[in-house]
Amino acid sequence: MRLRNIPGAEEAILSSPYCVKEPEEQKGSWQRQFPSSQPLHIEIGMGKGRFIMDMAAANPKINYLGIERYSSVLLRALQKMELSPLSNLKFICMDAADLENVFDQNEVSRIYLNFSDPWPKDRHAKRRLTSRQFFTRYDRILTPEGRIEFKTDNQALFDFSLQEIPEAAWHVDAYTRDLHHDSVLNEGNIMTEYEEKFSSKGNPIYKLIASRCG
Ligand code: SAM
Repeated sequence: MRLRNIPGAEEAILSSPYCVKEPEEQKGSWQRQFPSSQPLHIEIGMGKGRFIMDMAAANPKINYLGIERYSSVLLRALQKMELSPLSNLKFICMDAADLENVFDQNEVSRIYLNFSDPWPKDRHAKRRLTSRQFFTRYDRILTPEGRIEFKTDNQALFDFSLQEIPEAAWHVDAYTRDLHHDSVLNEGNIMTEYEEKFSSKGNPIYKLIASRCG
């Protein structure tokens, strides 16, 4: 994601009703942020928010939280929400490395990771959102039947993720190396901004679904 420092982004986020400030204070009480108590799904690294906004509009019986590290990127999602507000969607500006400070055990039912940063250098492997270090974090916040859904166009990151999941004592329930030609996994697929960009160039899209072993 190309980043520009947008003047006023921090202030806009602080004043937005759609962005939760001091998210650590909501730990264990996220349902209070929404009109209805219902399953909570999160997207980590949501970028400009197209995927999670379309998901929230299509699934009103699920509450969604979009997580993005950079205020200048999150600002774009906030601007879209102002035009079409959704009561079952909020945003958090934070680094996913802090997930356990923000969510309690069993608080999240599903995690979406879409076109996550690849961190290609070996020494940065633990920063990848599908590293065993991140699976340990997910383990601490997901319900027992909770699952991870991951999409990417990056073959090396996908292969790394397939190897990493069993190492973290998780299980790959399903995967494809060509999502848009997989009639089962592509059913109801909602595209992300990056997915649209890369698939329009002819790149295959990889997807996996993972849950805990046993
Ligand atoms: N998911 C969007 C899509 O598919 O169009 C955006 C993909 S973009 C390549 C990855 C996004 O993840 C960036 O906006 C980046 O800032 C965010 N990100 C990466 N690591 C993160 C982390 N540890 N915590 C929160 N956001 C993160």
